Amino acid sequence: MTLRIAVIGGGIGGLTAAVALYQAGFEVDVYEQAPELTEVGGGINMAPNATRVLRGLGLTEGLDREGVRPCSTHQRRWRDGRTLQRAPLNPLCEELYGAWHMTIHRADLLAVIAAAFPAERVHLGHRLIGLSDHGDSTEAWFENGAHIMVDVLVGADGIHSAVRSALFGDEEPAFAGCVAYRGLVPVERIADLALEYGSQSWVGPGAHFVHYFVSRGRLLNFVGWTEHDSWNREDWTDRATIARALAAFEGWHAQVRTIIAAAETCFIWALFDRDPLPRWSVGRTTLLGDASHPMYPFMGQGAAMAIEDGATLASCLGAVGDPADALRHYERLRLPRVTRLQQMSRANSGDRSPDTLRWLYQFDTADVVPTQV
Ligand SMILES: Cc1cc2nc3c(=O)[nH]c(=O)nc-3n(C[C@H](O)[C@H](O)[C@H](O)COP(=O)(O)OP(=O)(O)OC[C@H]3O[C@@H](n4cnc5c(N)ncnc54)[C@H](O)[C@@H]3O)c2cc1C
Repeated sequence: MTLRIAVIGGGIGGLTAAVALYQAGFEVDVYEQAPELTEVGGGINMAPNATRVLRGLGLTEGLDREGVRPCSTHQRRWRDGRTLQRAPLNPLCEELYGAWHMTIHRADLLAVIAAAFPAERVHLGHRLIGLSDHGDSTEAWFENGAHIMVDVLVGADGIHSAVRSALFGDEEPAFAGCVAYRGLVPVERIADLALEYGSQSWVGPGAHFVHYFVSRGRLLNFVGWTEHDSWNREDWTDRATIARALAAFEGWHAQVRTIIAAAETCFIWALFDRDPLPRWSVGRTTLLGDASHPMYPFMGQGAAMAIEDGATLASCLGAVGDPADALRHYERLRLPRVTRLQQMSRANSGDRSPDTLRWLYQFDTADVVPTQV
């Protein structure tokens, strides 16, 4: 009998898992609390380990239509713009790691993934409020009164995961002491900068600033990280003014300040993570993405890990007969890799040695999943 699987959360992680599970032949439904599928916050880097999985799901055409393959990465000093490091990205990434690096607007990425999944199986306005594992099935309840009984339930409901709380109890995420300003700039406003078609990162005291193209090159995305003692919602709003972002990057190179000043929208984002969990699954219920292993974004790998999780989960459920065994197998395969990345992101180690990059980018979920267990 075909397994019925509920994925809670229609973010990048949940939808990728849904596509992978659907393509593997399972009966999959996604339950998303929001009234529509959407992603805020602008752009995202998709490293080769993530684009490899998305390519395997047949999404290359959509990604190339919406995203950008940056030609290079250029690291510069905050005040005088001096080059600290410069390296080619594409097409070299494909030669070195077998897949390309991409920068893309989050909403575009989500739309490309969602297009590969039947829309009628995405249930919007469904906020999970409770669940119960019965050994051979899982039952779940939603705020709108809906109720489901499925063979497997996957919590892909982000850093404040209700599924995680139901399985392992409540615990507040830890503030990184860091906030990120994120903005999008229409490229015609900064044409005078004549930026090359790549990513740039600027390094300064207690802060750094990254910019890259998204939306077929029509928008420049920026993220500026600065240190910050404490975070409380009353003092900050999620939408930052451009003036506030400019003040945070006072004294920085004219290029950085020109980009911030030209922004169309500017958000502020506080950074949180959690300690690694020793396990993610209880019976026929498991976790995926930020629900199981939120990490600081300094390695640019949070969504990539969620994407790898989805592919691995689908392979395990396909290869291992008993669903609870398959979930245990899935977490055993995933835990060491994501825990190492959580730790690297927390240490902000900046380890970009060739060995580390190979470990990170050459990784292929297909290599670690046995066909039979
Ligand atoms: C500043 C910043 C920059 C980043 N840059 C990168 C990068 O360049 N590359 C990269 O790979 N990663 C990056 N990340 C990390 C990445 O954004 C996350 O790891 C990723 O989005 C997590 O995806 P997810 O699907 O697991 O969770 P989420 O995106 O949080 O999705 C969870 C979904 O579940 C829904 N939901 C929540 N609760 C419920 C409920 N009770 N019932 C039903 N639905 C629910 C939510 O509405 C949401 O749609 C960055 C993060 C930050 C903060």
